[in-house]
Amino acid sequence: MGKTIVIIGAGLAGTTAARELSQAGQPVTLIDPEAGDTYERPPLSKHLFDDSRYHLPYHLESDEGITFVRHRAVSLTLAEAGSEFAGTVHLASGETLDFTHCILATGMEANRPEVPAYPGALPVYNLAEAEWIRNFVAEAGDPLDVGVLGSGYLGIEVASAAVAAGHTATVYLRGTEPLRLQLSAPVRQALFAKHAVAGVRFVTNLESVEAIPAGVHDLFVTSVGARPVRIPIDGTLPTTDEHVADPEGTVAGEAPTFAWDVDAHLATAYPGVWAAGDCAHITGGRFPLTHPWACEPVAESHGKYLAQQILAEAADRDAGDVPSSSGESKPWSDVPWHWSFQGPEKVFTAGLTSPDADDTILRSDPSGEKFQVFHFAGPDPEAELIGVETLNWPPMQAAARRVLAGDHVPTRAQLEDPDFDFKAHSRL
Ligand SMILES: Cc1cc2nc3c(=O)[nH]c(=O)nc-3n(C[C@H](O)[C@H](O)[C@H](O)COP(=O)(O)OP(=O)(O)OC[C@H]3O[C@@H](n4cnc5c(N)ncnc54)[C@H](O)[C@@H]3O)c2cc1C
Repeated sequence: MGKTIVIIGAGLAGTTAARELSQAGQPVTLIDPEAGDTYERPPLSKHLFDDSRYHLPYHLESDEGITFVRHRAVSLTLAEAGSEFAGTVHLASGETLDFTHCILATGMEANRPEVPAYPGALPVYNLAEAEWIRNFVAEAGDPLDVGVLGSGYLGIEVASAAVAAGHTATVYLRGTEPLRLQLSAPVRQALFAKHAVAGVRFVTNLESVEAIPAGVHDLFVTSVGARPVRIPIDGTLPTTDEHVADPEGTVAGEAPTFAWDVDAHLATAYPGVWAAGDCAHITGGRFPLTHPWACEPVAESHGKYLAQQILAEAADRDAGDVPSSSGESKPWSDVPWHWSFQGPEKVFTAGLTSPDADDTILRSDPSGEKFQVFHFAGPDPEAELIGVETLNWPPMQAAARRVLAGDHVPTRAQLEDPDFDFKAHSRL
């Protein structure tokens, strides 16, 4: 029997997998209420206040290779042993789709806290929200006073973009400094200072949303994290209290929700079911984390990897031979990386970096304006480099990605040597 592949979610991970599979001649069914109309999310938070392109559609067409099913998937059930299928997807419409292979690529949805003083407050997580805000800005004409709740990547992108476009922006945060959960101290402190100098106001140590004053802001954007969208499998959702799924921190009083744990081959614990992108939490391989990576390059890389894995499987399997990607095949091993453009500031990470690391090495250009922070597997001189943060130095982010992907990963001792040329090393 051939493969019957369903992908749930037509965001970047699902679209990439569907495109790769169909281009290789493998038919695939793509389930998403918006299949065919999905788009890149990163421009949404960066271009609310300027004329740059914010709507970048994926341009995936439904053709003979890809069947769009424009419904919401509500659950999966697994087949009995010996069945020719691995399981069945149940749709909100009541229809069902059997599969031999299922890729969960349902992404995340934004947390939506109520802000009593601003009942119209909204996140900027999807196109409709971005368009509502852009229309509001366009109709207002005059400079706006923008309030932002939350100081993760998206909140800071919104506030810094507002200020860069001539508006006023105030960020309300629970802690004492923005980007506390995302970036190590040298990077987040440099950004804090740069944004403050640019005019972003920060209200720190916010104890409750009740403390946000009414009548101050014309527009209020919330950005307090997101949670994976999960679909029950045989009635079960992922449950573990070992890790926090929310990359920007959970809201006080809110129970954290978790992603699908996947192994280094992106396989869930359920035969024939894989997870990719923001709804997947990688527990093994070279780049495990305590939460989903939640970044665009990883979602794309997951989609490509799973398509290749599935295509590489023997075309004909015996009935009842439920596929599993774990076997002997190569694990997912692309270097994860992330970028965040915050007004004029550009910050990147590559590999494993920790906001709590304090035994990092900092190297800067002669001006001190551009720098990198290097993270290692341990404190000793021979510990290998595992991750790099880069501020305002794109060519060096490219070097960091090359180094981490290559066979010549340097040690702490090498990076401590002032004569060590990291860029030259990246070309070995
Ligand atoms: C505003 C914003 C800015 C960002 N900026 C950056 C950035 O600067 N750099 C970076 O690296 N990353 C950024 N990201 C993160 C990046 O966009 C995500 O990591 C990436 O989109 C994840 O892709 P995905 O395919 O896993 O999920 P998504 O792109 O979220 O797609 C998930 C899809 O699943 C569908 N779906 C959900 N549930 C169901 C269901 N039950 N049935 C059927 N379909 C379903 C949804 O409709 C959606 O189309 C940003 C994200 C946002 C929201």
